[in-house]
Amino acid sequence: MALMLRSTAALVRTSVTLLFAMFIASAGTVAAYAQKVPIVRDAEIEALVRDYARPIFKAAGLSKSGIDIILVNDPRFNAFVAGRRMFINTGALLQAETPNEIIGVIAHEAGHIAGGHQDRLRDQIARAQTMAVISSLLGVGAMVAGAATETGGLASAGAGIMSGGTEMARRGLLGYQRSEEAAADQSAIKYLEATSQSGKGMLVTFGRFQSSLSLSGAKVDPYQQSHPMPRDRIANLETLVKSSANYGNTESEALRQRHDMMRAKIAVYTQGQAAASRLFKKMPGSLAAQYGEAQAALLFGNPKNALKKADALLKIQPKNPYFHELRGDILLRANQPGKAAEAYARAVQLDPAKSGILPIAYGQALIATGKPGSIKQAVAEIQEGLSRDKENFNGYAYLAQAYNLLGDVPEAELATAEGYYYGGNYQQAKIFAMRAQQKFKRGAPGWVRAQDIINYKTPKKKK
Ligand SMILES: [Zn+2]
Repeated sequence: MALMLRSTAALVRTSVTLLFAMFIASAGTVAAYAQKVPIVRDAEIEALVRDYARPIFKAAGLSKSGIDIILVNDPRFNAFVAGRRMFINTGALLQAETPNEIIGVIAHEAGHIAGGHQDRLRDQIARAQTMAVISSLLGVGAMVAGAATETGGLASAGAGIMSGGTEMARRGLLGYQRSEEAAADQSAIKYLEATSQSGKGMLVTFGRFQSSLSLSGAKVDPYQQSHPMPRDRIANLETLVKSSANYGNTESEALRQRHDMMRAKIAVYTQGQAAASRLFKKMPGSLAAQYGEAQAALLFGNPKNALKKADALLKIQPKNPYFHELRGDILLRANQPGKAAEAYARAVQLDPAKSGILPIAYGQALIATGKPGSIKQAVAEIQEGLSRDKENFNGYAYLAQAYNLLGDVPEAELATAEGYYYGGNYQQAKIFAMRAQQKFKRGAPGWVRAQDIINYKTPKKKK
């Protein structure tokens, strides 16, 4: 299924709270984190961003570190690191006009990971947190005193102390960050050099934050707040980037095309039809615009029209797995699950990135056919998808559905437990694991897995 959005609480706004969110995030699973930020799953976009990251991670010595890249549904330009995870906003992907701009962001974030900045940041946050707590206590104390004596002046002074204290904590953190930022820039340049890529994209990104344009909006991009960019930092970077022999290097036309197709898709799914159309007009006659129109037809138009557009795309690139996926999405929506399953099967077969999302979509279509043989096959496909993508909690819901249709209650309950588990709802996970366990033979694989979930120690909530 294309671009699954999991909307939950809005992303925290100020830089300090953003850092707190990062701190909390480094402990739990992706899914636990998903309760705080809206995560996006999409086979095409994930494959592209990983293709951007692969050479950079290799140059950074991070190839074997198992760094996950997670897409966040947020229109603002942002990217950040939490533990072994790199989070990139859809807003950054949409705004970046070239792959190189995102590659520059990835290189910079890889610099933070390789430099171990996160671990030290944690100590700094703990210190800032204490500072903020003390200062707010001072502030509250002064306010209480002010209220007791009914002197408005003192009460407002209390409020002043409070915000001043938080501001102090914030500045302390930002000051600390500045040195890390410069170090991450240096590393980023090193990785780009090692992979013969230009640093131009980094300059474009940072320049965007410097321009008054980015500040004129009501929302300030969090990237700017979490990556403070004083003038001298940009000047240093500019000298380095422009003196490189790789400065003029550009990506292949094929990679740019994939980038634009990604932007078109994100625009349709997150910006609505009108805004997406405006983007397509900037790419006249391109495959990306055509792809965007087809996605828009699926989302906002009628399936017949959408199918025509998907078929036209497949005439141009018959082996593009995501065009087949789109076709599957359209046919499923048009209530033709048998044909949708065929389209997804083709997508699975052609997908070089071996995404777990596509076999799960395939399984979903097979379930929708309602034929017993197809449902058995659906179980196999979804299990294949989950073996590639263990934390895909949507997949477990479909797996449970398939098992239920086959009358296999213990397996259905176990799949439901797994879904809750990876979704971060441990209480429900344990309830279903216990139900499932009662029906399995003691010591059977299902029984053992249920026991693992029952035994799982729920992480304590951080305040
Ligand atoms: Zn940074």
